[in-house]
Amino acid sequence: MSTENYHFKVGSFDCIVVSDGTFTYPHPAAVFFANAPKERLAEVLRKHNLDPEHWEEYVSPYTGLVIDTGQNRVLVDTGAGGMAPTTGKLMSSLQAEGIAPEDIGTVILTHAHPDHIGGNIDSEGKPAFPKARYVMWKDEWDFWTQEPDISQLQVDEHIKELIVTFARSSLPPIRGQLKLVDQETEIVPGVRAVAAHGHTPGHMAVVISSGSERLFCTADVALHPIHLEQRDWYAAVDLNPEQALASRRRIMDMAAAEKALVYASHFPFPSLGHVTQKGNAWQWHPIETIG
Ligand SMILES: [Zn+2]
Repeated sequence: MSTENYHFKVGSFDCIVVSDGTFTYPHPAAVFFANAPKERLAEVLRKHNLDPEHWEEYVSPYTGLVIDTGQNRVLVDTGAGGMAPTTGKLMSSLQAEGIAPEDIGTVILTHAHPDHIGGNIDSEGKPAFPKARYVMWKDEWDFWTQEPDISQLQVDEHIKELIVTFARSSLPPIRGQLKLVDQETEIVPGVRAVAAHGHTPGHMAVVISSGSERLFCTADVALHPIHLEQRDWYAAVDLNPEQALASRRRIMDMAAAEKALVYASHFPFPSLGHVTQKGNAWQWHPIETIG
């Protein structure tokens, strides 16, 4: 899997999917498809050339998205920082593009899971993007900076601990540069915050518009392309599954109706493609296959 940075355009905006590295999920079926009926899951995995008995790991890209609107330079999500030896490459990936930390004017955090906020701060614990305002949904900030209860997640205790620890270390230092949103609103011209709660309490999508073109940054509305075919399957890390599935329906229906480009953070690199309606769900068309 290539983890080079990937350049593309949305109207007149220059965009880059910036690599933070990869992370290997053990027992991916249990992580990604927590409620999938066993036999149906086996059938679907086989259709994707995966052996249900021996699907031991899934290598997910971890990325950030840079949007240069001409007026503003925006970064969506900051990668996983030091979460694993294979993560935390976002800063050097930006540097390879000639982008210095102080060039970023706005950092949008789609949600506060470790792989999206891990690069918020530098090695001294200071904001890694000194001139940026950090934008987050208010419910997300409130949840993670109080006493977050994630006991219902169907993941190991050490994963829960990791999630809470990252929020504790990566959020308070950005308080002085924080801008919270509590409704769907334009963050900078052409870049809009869209509610997509459920994966976490204030999880958001970001819609980028320039000219007649649109990009839906769907973050963790769907974690794997199979989540599009199987619209009722949710992940073990979805905090409120019902709400997460409703958000997925709303966002993917919009993206399909508008034939918009979609950036889904954890889909195979560069995580870009289109979504079409198929039956009562959708189908994923990675960008390479449609030329
Ligand atoms: Zn994620």
